[in-house]
Amino acid sequence: MSADPGIVIIGASLTGAKAAQALRLDHGYDGPITLVGDEPHLPYQRPALSKGYLLGTTAPGDLDVLEPQFYADQDITLALGAPATALDLDARRVRLAGGTEFAFTQVLIATGSRPRRLQLPGADLDGVCYLRNRDDSEHLATALRAATDVVIIGAGWLGSELAAASRTLGNHTTVIDPLPTPLYHVLGDQIGGLFAGRHRDHGVNLLLGDGVEAILGTHSVDAVQTITGQTIPADLVIVGVGAVPNTELAQAAGLRVDGGIRTDEHLRTSHAAALAAGDVARHQHPGYLNPVRIEHWDNAVIHGTAAAATLVGKPTTIDHVPYFFSTQHGSTLEYVGLPTTWDRIITRGEHGTPGFTAFWLDRGIPVAALTIDNWGAADHLRTLITAAHPADPRQLADPDIPLPDLLPNARSRTS
Ligand SMILES: Cc1cc2nc3c(=O)[nH]c(=O)nc-3n(C[C@H](O)[C@H](O)[C@H](O)COP(=O)(O)OP(=O)(O)OC[C@H]3O[C@@H](n4cnc5c(N)ncnc54)[C@H](O)[C@@H]3O)c2cc1C
Repeated sequence: MSADPGIVIIGASLTGAKAAQALRLDHGYDGPITLVGDEPHLPYQRPALSKGYLLGTTAPGDLDVLEPQFYADQDITLALGAPATALDLDARRVRLAGGTEFAFTQVLIATGSRPRRLQLPGADLDGVCYLRNRDDSEHLATALRAATDVVIIGAGWLGSELAAASRTLGNHTTVIDPLPTPLYHVLGDQIGGLFAGRHRDHGVNLLLGDGVEAILGTHSVDAVQTITGQTIPADLVIVGVGAVPNTELAQAAGLRVDGGIRTDEHLRTSHAAALAAGDVARHQHPGYLNPVRIEHWDNAVIHGTAAAATLVGKPTTIDHVPYFFSTQHGSTLEYVGLPTTWDRIITRGEHGTPGFTAFWLDRGIPVAALTIDNWGAADHLRTLITAAHPADPRQLADPDIPLPDLLPNARSRTS
């Protein structure tokens, strides 16, 4: 038996499983690996929880991050169903609820995030739900089928997907958000407005520029009262008002926490024995002035893999442009970028038709792009944004110019 206590990964989800996989398969790390998770399930992927899994079109097995036998085959110890409750970084030990302890040489914290809770009168009534994990999705799948009037609070990515799922199941569906359009912070007025139209075309009652005053009911929810005084009947309320990182364990262990566990460019935290990655990490990304915390599937995969490299002493540069995908009302949209500002938006194609693409520009440089039903395009868009070169607006708008021809090296070849 090895004297090295090895690596403990706290958080048995996408980031954690990807890190374990990369340690064994990419780096040939042969020390002990322990994957600690508070959920009872093998590591699974969350995107389908608000889409196919909710609607019954994605099978449970399709959620698996890795084949179930991978862990045994690769001698990875799974400690599932109990949270890590205490982390002593100097002693290099972690304790789980129930008292089990593991020693480690290095620890990777990949504890993800959880839904932000509503603090409003009526927020604790039966029928007020959140969605983060597999059990939530299974509960909602049943509740959505039993419901008639569904109110979704929040028109972000999750609220938008849930509205689409609720309409697919035939429910009267209202979405309430104080901002002027769905996904306003990400897409802005113009493109957010197109998404508002798409929701309305699919029968969603969008109440924008309004907020929730209270949720009404005795034991279970009956209605939602808005700030402008509307009363919307509801037998199910789903809250999608953002997520907060699960930083408590790290904070109690003395790590620097500030809007996420702060890490350097290689995911190292303020203690030499600890890394953090995925949704919980606020990473010093070389492409951005301020450290960023990104809640995207793609980021979890990249972070998990990169954390493994740092753990074996071969740190890589993590400079990916963030990428997010979503499915709403039968269309798949992909978004690349994380801009804080832009001064112009260029579109190509007709919104609502496959291949529609929008580019956000800052002083002539594409800083973000969105494309719809256009699989394969995101890689080109990512290259375009990464290049950070000025682009010709007429070429961006012209659907006859293939996306690869917009890339800077293509332009210099033809100019
Ligand atoms: C419903 C839903 C739909 C989504 N859809 C998309 C999408 O379409 N596209 C996209 O790009 N992204 C999507 N995402 C985001 C994406 O799933 C996340 O970015 C990704 O799951 C992050 O992975 P993670 O492993 O870092 O964190 P998580 O997936 O949050 O996993 C962290 C794990 O750690 C566990 N944990 C927390 N504290 C402890 C503790 N003390 N001890 C042990 N375990 C602990 C948690 O319970 C959890 O199992 C979606 C997320 C949700 C919730």
